[in-house]
Amino acid sequence: MASAELVGHERQRGLLARAVRDGRVPPALLFTGPEGVGKKSVALAVARALLCARADGGACDACEACGRALRGLHPDARLIRPEGASVLSIKIEAVRDVVREIVGRPFEGRARAFVIDEAHLMTEQAGNALLKSLEEPPPTSHVILVSGAPQALLPTVRSRCQLLRFGPLPAGLLESHLRERHGLGAEEARLRATLSGGSLGAALAFDSDSFRAVRDETLELLERIASWSPLERMEASERLADQEDLALALTALRSLLRDIAVARAAGGPQALLNADRAERLAALARGPLGDAATTLGESVGESRNSLRGNANKLLAMDVLLDALAAAPSRG
Ligand SMILES: [Zn+2]
Repeated sequence: MASAELVGHERQRGLLARAVRDGRVPPALLFTGPEGVGKKSVALAVARALLCARADGGACDACEACGRALRGLHPDARLIRPEGASVLSIKIEAVRDVVREIVGRPFEGRARAFVIDEAHLMTEQAGNALLKSLEEPPPTSHVILVSGAPQALLPTVRSRCQLLRFGPLPAGLLESHLRERHGLGAEEARLRATLSGGSLGAALAFDSDSFRAVRDETLELLERIASWSPLERMEASERLADQEDLALALTALRSLLRDIAVARAAGGPQALLNADRAERLAALARGPLGDAATTLGESVGESRNSLRGNANKLLAMDVLLDALAAAPSRG
């Protein structure tokens, strides 16, 4: 898959390009992996590669077929997305249309491709309707399901698809992409690339102003927590748990602890994510938090993950602030 808009996933793209070139693209594929890493972009590139005039396994993005597919106007490249005013889903009506088309011959191209984005949002009826066409599609039809939550697909649907996993994008790759393709400055690109968990989507949506505001509150917390009484600490963990965007606050906290560890290891300001707060971070690094920063950063990561489940927010923040306040006596 050579296409200008794609980032990373060289192995997956190589496998797919070879399959397109050799005419061995499976009838049903399932692309899984975190949100925002480019699964849908790769799926759409496969659709273009199947139609591209060059027929060399990739999508040239310059020929007439690629151009129309890129604009969503090629009748043999279909993208099906969830719809709905409040709750998004892919309903049986939409899937029935697709099922009718899957059994047909291509209109113009050598093949037809149906990309179903967020496939886990298919209703059960819709999934069951799709099932039959995944069993014996004509050799010219290919269905690519894209999902960040494949466990929510009907097992019968999942088992008929060949699975291809897409991992998080490496931070270094994200950073250079943000600089070269999106014109971000070096510092901003590094911040976003490091804090977005390998997701280009998250890196592009990252709100740096909100981040810096929350980060400054969190920095103050780190500077003062050692002097707080247990009651003050409980109040602080209540404030934290009530944050509108707790995930962002924890991301900020993790970035600060990371920087404290870097500063402790004598990393200069250019190595910091929060270089604009280098002096205060260096002061913290000289204190007891310096030794504990790496371990504490991991605890923050764990708290963040546990909140993705249904963990009690307040309890999780109590535990976290206790750990932060305990650092001095350990150091
Ligand atoms: Zn082309």
